[in-house]
Amino acid sequence: MFQSLMANRRVLTVQGRRVIVAGSTAKAADMLDIPSAATLHYMLGLSGGRYRPCISNALNVFIDLADVIIVDEYSMAAAELLEAAHCRCVEAAQHGERQFSIFAGKKVILCGDPHQLPAVCRRCKGDDCPHQPYRWQHFAAFRSVPLVTNVRQAGDEEFAELLFRMRTSLPTAADLQVLAARVVRPPTAMPEEAIIVAGLNSEVRLYNRQQLQAHHPDGVTEVAAAHTFGSSTLTAAQQADVIASLEHRCTLPSHLNFAANSPAICIRNLRNTLYNGARLTVLQLAGDRLRVRLPSGAETTISRVNESQLFGHGMVTRSQFPVLCSYARTVHRVQGETFQVPVYIDPTSFQQPGQGYVALSRAKTLSKVFFVLAESQQLEAAMFTPHVPQH
Ligand SMILES: [Zn+2]
Repeated sequence: MFQSLMANRRVLTVQGRRVIVAGSTAKAADMLDIPSAATLHYMLGLSGGRYRPCISNALNVFIDLADVIIVDEYSMAAAELLEAAHCRCVEAAQHGERQFSIFAGKKVILCGDPHQLPAVCRRCKGDDCPHQPYRWQHFAAFRSVPLVTNVRQAGDEEFAELLFRMRTSLPTAADLQVLAARVVRPPTAMPEEAIIVAGLNSEVRLYNRQQLQAHHPDGVTEVAAAHTFGSSTLTAAQQADVIASLEHRCTLPSHLNFAANSPAICIRNLRNTLYNGARLTVLQLAGDRLRVRLPSGAETTISRVNESQLFGHGMVTRSQFPVLCSYARTVHRVQGETFQVPVYIDPTSFQQPGQGYVALSRAKTLSKVFFVLAESQQLEAAMFTPHVPQH
C-alpha cells in the first residue's frame, strides 16, 4: 500500500533524501519537465478553498517521510497555499518537536522570480493585497539565494544584462533606446508561428482575430457559447443584456474562433495533459466535441464545460469549450514560458508593475523581440515599471 502510494505520489530520492517536487500551478508543474512533478495541491492532498484536515493516513505518512519539498514558480502561489502546505506538514508530523517548526522542520525550497507578475487575487486589487506569497507570515523565515546564471538568455549577454537591470528598476535612457530600435508599426505582417503578447484581454482577442483572418482567410470557424437561464420570465432583449454583461465576468469565451491547425490553449484543468495554460492545436469540430492535438503529437477531444453566474435574481449558465485561440496571449498567460519564435509585444496597455519585464523576458534573444506600437506612440519607461515586492 505504502509503496504504491510512494510510486503514485511520485517521490524522488536524491542522495538518500526523499524529495517532493511540485509546481504552484498545473502549468508550472508540467513545465518542470520532471515526470514525478505534480501540483503542490495534488502532492499534499489539498482541495483548494478552505483547509480541511487530511483523512488519509497513508498520505500523512507520505508527507511526514518527505525530507525536502521543492515548489517551482512560487510567485504564483497565494499565501494561503503556502500556509496550507505548512499546516499539512505539521498535521502529518503529529508527534514530537517537529510540529512546532515551519513545515514541520522539512527543508522547503521555493523557486521563482519575485519580479514576475503578482499572484492573481480575486479578492483585492492593487499593491496592498495581503495574499501575495511574500506577505505570508512565515515568508521571512526563508533565506534568499540570488540567481547566478541566467539560462534563458544565456546566448545574448547584452539582453540578459538589460533584463537584469529592468527586473528591479525602470529602463535607463540608453536601455530605452536599445528597445526602441525594435519597434514596428502596424499594419505589420506577423508570421503565423509568432507569439503576440498584450496587456488586455480585449487586445488579445483583436490580435487573434487578425491573425486567424490573415493566415486562414477562408477557413475560420466560430463557435458561439450556449446560454441557459434559470428563470424563464426574461424577454429576449433582457436575455441579450445579461449575456452582454457576462463579457467581463465569465472566463469562458462568448465566441471561440479557430481554423484547422491554428494554435490554442486550454483554460481549465481538465485532465493530466489538459490543464489551464496547456498548449493545443485545434483540428476540427466533431459533433459536440473539439478535436485537438497536444504538443506530444497525441490527439484527443474536449467537451464543452459550464460556468454559472448570478445576475439580478436569477442564474445564467454559459456552455462553451474551455479553449482560447492563442496567437496572442496576455502577459499573465505567458509567464514562465520561453519562446524560440518571434515575440511581438504590444505594450500600449502595460500598467501593471512587472508586465513589461515578463513580456520582454520570454524571448531568448533581443533579435526575436518586436514592439508593436501605433504611429502616434513611443516606447515609454513607464511601460516597464518593475514589480518589486514590498513585504
Ligand atoms: Zn488579495
